[in-house]
Amino acid sequence: MNTKKLGFNSKLIHAGDYRDEFGSAVTPIYQTSTFSFKNAQHGADLFAGKEKGYIYTRIGNPTINVLENKLAELENGYRGIALASGMAAVSTVYMGLLKQGDHMISTGAVYGPSRGVMETHFSKFGVEYSYIDTSDLNELKNAIKPNTKLLYLETPANPTIQLTDIKKASQIAHEHNILVCVDNTFCSPYLQKPLDLGADVVLHSLTKFINGHADIVGGVIITKEEDIYNNLRKTMVYMGGNMDPHQAFMVIRGVKTLSLRIEKAQKSAMKIAEFLENHPKVEWIKYPGLKSFEQYELAKEQMDGFGSMISFGVKGGYDAGKVLMDNVHLATLAVSLGGVETLIQHPASMTHAGVSKENQLAANITDGLVRYSVGIEDVEDLISDLEQGLDKIN
Ligand SMILES: *Cc1c(COP(=O)(O)O)cnc(C)c1O
Repeated sequence: MNTKKLGFNSKLIHAGDYRDEFGSAVTPIYQTSTFSFKNAQHGADLFAGKEKGYIYTRIGNPTINVLENKLAELENGYRGIALASGMAAVSTVYMGLLKQGDHMISTGAVYGPSRGVMETHFSKFGVEYSYIDTSDLNELKNAIKPNTKLLYLETPANPTIQLTDIKKASQIAHEHNILVCVDNTFCSPYLQKPLDLGADVVLHSLTKFINGHADIVGGVIITKEEDIYNNLRKTMVYMGGNMDPHQAFMVIRGVKTLSLRIEKAQKSAMKIAEFLENHPKVEWIKYPGLKSFEQYELAKEQMDGFGSMISFGVKGGYDAGKVLMDNVHLATLAVSLGGVETLIQHPASMTHAGVSKENQLAANITDGLVRYSVGIEDVEDLISDLEQGLDKIN
């Protein structure tokens, strides 16, 4: 079926669909490492690329392919590459698009390991980098060097909820022949489509909103152009960060309810944000749907909804943050985000504890910052859970 002209929800269910000879209604799990050839010539033709088909699961697999095609269609991209994890997607993009002597510009508050692998591993191969405030387009212009080859954006950034204008940043980058990659994990294609806004590559940790059930780790890269796709596909096949067929099956199942989950969660997030904004123990709050959010206009323009990630600061800093962690009961104290269950975490003592104090502050990660990923529980229950937790801070 040609699903290209269908709406987003129809695509969630049907894009990438594949019917086997038994007519199974959902995509089966092809749990096999290798595929037999009909004869010597068939094998030779597959290897030569003269015939389409499957050779070996690291190179391609029908279950994984359904997921890749579905996600590529949802992002309005050319094709997708599924990987073992979000970090496999990030490091495959760096490996494929950068070489010795190249320079990358990225968001300072980018996902910690996306920065860590650049600073500790890619730097060993002579890749240079600048971590800046990409929401400031003048800072971006000033950071461009003759050897800058990649602009790597995360918007909203994690955990500060800072937005970068994808359209304007991409225009600036393209004037200098710089490719643009956006980590779209916090939004999913339901809320933001970076390729439509000018990016060349989009990637996701499928672990979060797209799978949405906190039971799988996975990643995907989607490109707008064929040549970048071919380069990154080859990089994935050589580096070996491929997804497993069973993982792909789980994500195909999870993604079907993406719109329903996000709609429910973001409606609750708005109510929770309003509750927090008026709470005496809350020093500040960042949620793109609040009128007080500095980049509210950009959020309205660039995103199709405000999402379900909230960051807020509690009065009393580091210790107060820990008190809240220890006194919420419905919200699960865990890192990660985007699942049907509400999660809460304290970056200063958890996800970003390994980042130096100086870099934490440069990226606006303060001691009292709490990150809250709203799930699909009843919002009244979530608010009373937060209320009694905040009451324990003195
Ligand atoms: C979780 C996350 C990643 C890494 O994904 P994994 O699946 O954990 O490897 C990358 N970027 C963002 C924004 C994330 O939240």
